[in-house]
Amino acid sequence: MINSVLDALPTYMMSVFLAPAGVINRIEVLRRTFFWQGNEDKRKYHLAKWEEMNISKKIGGVGIRNMKFQNQSLMMKWLWKFASAENSLWKEVIAEKYGMRDKWMTTKVPLSQRFPDLYDLCQMQQATVAELWNDQGWNLHFRRNLNDWDMCRIAEFLATLAQFSNLSEEEDSLVWNVGSKGYFTVNSAYEDLNTVGIEEVEWPWKMIWKTKIPYKVNCFTWLLAKEAVLTHENLNKRGFHLCSRCFLCEEQGETVNHLFLHCKWTTQLWQMFTNMREIKWVKPGRIKQVLKCWNRDGNAGRKEERWKIVSSYIWWTVWLERNQRCYEGEQSNIQRFKLNCLALYYFWCKQVVLDS
Ligand SMILES: [Zn+2]
Repeated sequence: MINSVLDALPTYMMSVFLAPAGVINRIEVLRRTFFWQGNEDKRKYHLAKWEEMNISKKIGGVGIRNMKFQNQSLMMKWLWKFASAENSLWKEVIAEKYGMRDKWMTTKVPLSQRFPDLYDLCQMQQATVAELWNDQGWNLHFRRNLNDWDMCRIAEFLATLAQFSNLSEEEDSLVWNVGSKGYFTVNSAYEDLNTVGIEEVEWPWKMIWKTKIPYKVNCFTWLLAKEAVLTHENLNKRGFHLCSRCFLCEEQGETVNHLFLHCKWTTQLWQMFTNMREIKWVKPGRIKQVLKCWNRDGNAGRKEERWKIVSSYIWWTVWLERNQRCYEGEQSNIQRFKLNCLALYYFWCKQVVLDS
């Protein structure tokens, strides 16, 4: 909803103007609030940092677009159009007004700024590389004969040019070296901006996002992998001083990994499924590790959708039961609890079959 509707609204403006930081911040606040509390006025906890949610799904985020980068990548399209447009009036107007000094070879400053003394001496200041280079080498013309003291600078200049060894006679062409396509796309520019400074970690993103389950369960699984679901443990971290106790077994503190993995009630659900496949499964210590190994251990790495979604349904059943006990004071017995999980699972398996 956020990516397809809320982002689409300002897209036109953002592809024409660079939005002020204040406007971007305001839009981000609206989107953030909408994500966590929908249309309700009641304030709800933001369980993960918005910056983390902006990260691509493949490397640990939710893939919600960062407005600033979206704006920048849309604007970059004009640079690409400017560079690739030929014989167009708007390009000529802009080139005339602002000049066109290429940063050829040097990515930071044009050669005219790096060697201003030689640039002043140059007879053909607007010449292109192709006009000054041929098979024999550089064909430079200066306004006057060079003095001894100019020679060092010339040597330095030629050494700079020599670093670039792939000159050929072919017509120049523009290449976008981000991504594999070779030409500019807003998406590739966005992905590039959005991954700067982010460490790539091995993250079980396919088990979180590439499963055919309702989106709210996808998001819930993501929060679990981040260990950010509002259990007593996490409420305590937020300053609520609660006596932490698991709602299911009432024996241990309520941590994410206890409630969803190691609690004796939850263990029964895990066993129910591993017994079906007759596998001996060594349960890992943390949710993220379960996501990494569940499909490999029980499904031999196959793409069988029914198995991939089991873990998410166990967690969802546990969470529903936990909340029923916490907020409504009602509890199912263990048989009912297992039946709830199976019913939910088979209902969604049917959806998977119908969809495919
Ligand atoms: Zn427990």
